[in-house]
Amino acid sequence: MQSYTLYAPGKINLYLEIIGDRPDGFHEMAMILQSIGLADQVTIKSIGVDQIRVHCSHPLVPSDASNLAHRAAVLMAKQFPEAAQRYGGVEITIDKQIPVGAGLAGGSTNGAAVLVGLDLMWNLGLTQSELQELGAQLGSDVPFCIAGGTAIATGRGEVLAPLPSLDGLHLVLGKYRDLSISTPWAYKTYRQQFSHSYVSETQGIQGRQQRVHSGPMVAAIAARHPAEIGKLLHNDLEKVALPAHPRITQLKDAFAACHPLGVMMSGSGPTVFAIAQSADHGAEMRAKVQETIADPTLDLWITQSTANGIHVAYPA
Ligand code: ATP
Repeated sequence: MQSYTLYAPGKINLYLEIIGDRPDGFHEMAMILQSIGLADQVTIKSIGVDQIRVHCSHPLVPSDASNLAHRAAVLMAKQFPEAAQRYGGVEITIDKQIPVGAGLAGGSTNGAAVLVGLDLMWNLGLTQSELQELGAQLGSDVPFCIAGGTAIATGRGEVLAPLPSLDGLHLVLGKYRDLSISTPWAYKTYRQQFSHSYVSETQGIQGRQQRVHSGPMVAAIAARHPAEIGKLLHNDLEKVALPAHPRITQLKDAFAACHPLGVMMSGSGPTVFAIAQSADHGAEMRAKVQETIADPTLDLWITQSTANGIHVAYPA
């Protein structure tokens, strides 16, 4: 097959706890990640020339070698030089639906899609865990994006433990088009302000991670209890993002006034998501938030949680 189109879902963080520093400069994390229906489409085509080309019409997405999709193709070519030579170069076209710099893993999921797509196109037959190991070299969220669904992520986010599927939660997402947060900025600022509370010894780190594994959020997910999940949403990065960007608090407040089951910033932000009680409640909430904030740069999406990671759209 010369061409594949893949759906590349974004993610939200139902839970994000920063535990401590790691020797590699990243943070020790404990997160609960959830795939969402809001997805990019990534098309990969074999081309005759030995090049990697990336096309994306979104103005904030680079088309050069810094694009995560491009970096994923370079990694695959380095890892599998014979296949790369046999099949030639690739053209990658990204239809961006996931907002950029939003805390929704938009770049990571594009990188994940290229790994999965090239595995198929080059007939490599890699297992999901082999793909995830490669993905970890590209970014901490890439392994999760490959498998998708609901999972606990520890380490720097690449150590995954799947949780029972939580598809069908009604979600409303909001993000100001003119507000992006750089993930490195969020973590650096958190370290500056909160490193005094970091846990450093291995036992303490493992204890914190274990606390999440056996904690109430995991129990609420296993019981498929949306109201309980809504109450237990948590994100440490709100402590730095909200004071720096009061508009995020304003958006959270507008959602909260609509009585969602829960409302929280996702990842390093600035996207805010709210869990609605039903599809109708989600639609009402979107209309009401739009009316309350009345800012033309505010984008709102209605979506659902999904069990899907990267999956093939074409050929069907
Ligand atoms: P995360 O939730 O993983 O921290 P994010 O959603 O906050 O990610 P991204 O949308 O992945 O952030 O974008 C962060 C930056 O990465 C962008 O400003 C952009 O310049 C760069 N980037 C590189 N490749 C891509 C891509 N394929 N899609 C989007 N952004 C990309």
